[in-house]
Amino acid sequence: MPELPEILNLSEQMDKELRGKIIKSIRVVQEKCLNMPSDDFTRLLLDKRIEQVTCRGKWIFVELEQGTWLLLNLGMGGNVILHGGDNALPEKCQLRIDFDDGRVLTISFSWFGYVHAVSDGDLAGHSMTAKLGMTPVRDSGFTQEYFFSLLAGRRGSVKGFLLNQHNIAGIGNVYIQDILFRARMHPDQKLQTLTDIQKLALYRGILETLEESARLGGLAYEKDLYNKPGGFRDFLVGYREGQLCPVCGTTIQKIKTGSTSSYICPNCQCWDDGKS
Ligand SMILES: [Zn+2]
Repeated sequence: MPELPEILNLSEQMDKELRGKIIKSIRVVQEKCLNMPSDDFTRLLLDKRIEQVTCRGKWIFVELEQGTWLLLNLGMGGNVILHGGDNALPEKCQLRIDFDDGRVLTISFSWFGYVHAVSDGDLAGHSMTAKLGMTPVRDSGFTQEYFFSLLAGRRGSVKGFLLNQHNIAGIGNVYIQDILFRARMHPDQKLQTLTDIQKLALYRGILETLEESARLGGLAYEKDLYNKPGGFRDFLVGYREGQLCPVCGTTIQKIKTGSTSSYICPNCQCWDDGKS
């Protein structure tokens, strides 16, 4: 499932390749992923030039001329792939976009995703993206002070807080495992019990974990714009149940935390109820 490092990588590749290109044709195979009938969707985007591609959390924001936006969310997974003149197109895709230079972008979901067209005036009211929190990597506003202000007065578990896209956008159940390990924090630790030292460890854990994977082009089992896998494969504790903690040698456990699974070192990530 793509999270911030993969989406960041994809959006930067799309920006490099597609900026200045004009959409010449659109073929919608699965209308369900759109936010409007496919005829309206096509009319809104056709013959428009791409101005830039960015991301917010797990959403890719394609800005086109005349204040039009194409918003993509790959959901549980899927691929956005750019094909040159002679590359074979995938057998199945939900959407195909042809550009003025002859190249083709295909979007295919492995489960379900969203492809929304939005006018400038409607962007602030786009319910799925309007309330997204700040994207921690590449966003100079995500400072230590900002992070501390986000945590101020908050209650609930640290894992629940980090997974809520309205707080911080882009962290899912993949990278959160190593973020919490780096901070030496149990997923169920309550926000109101965190010391400033723990908050700082969490802040650093978020940036180190996401930046390391982004630098390597994202997860080794996800594909980039050129259909190439990322280079990140070495989790510290994530998905390493039964293996040894890289710090203390204790066996890593897989535990249930609410509706999600967590991988922890039970020695390094001790439960702290704030009463001790
Ligand atoms: Zn350990």
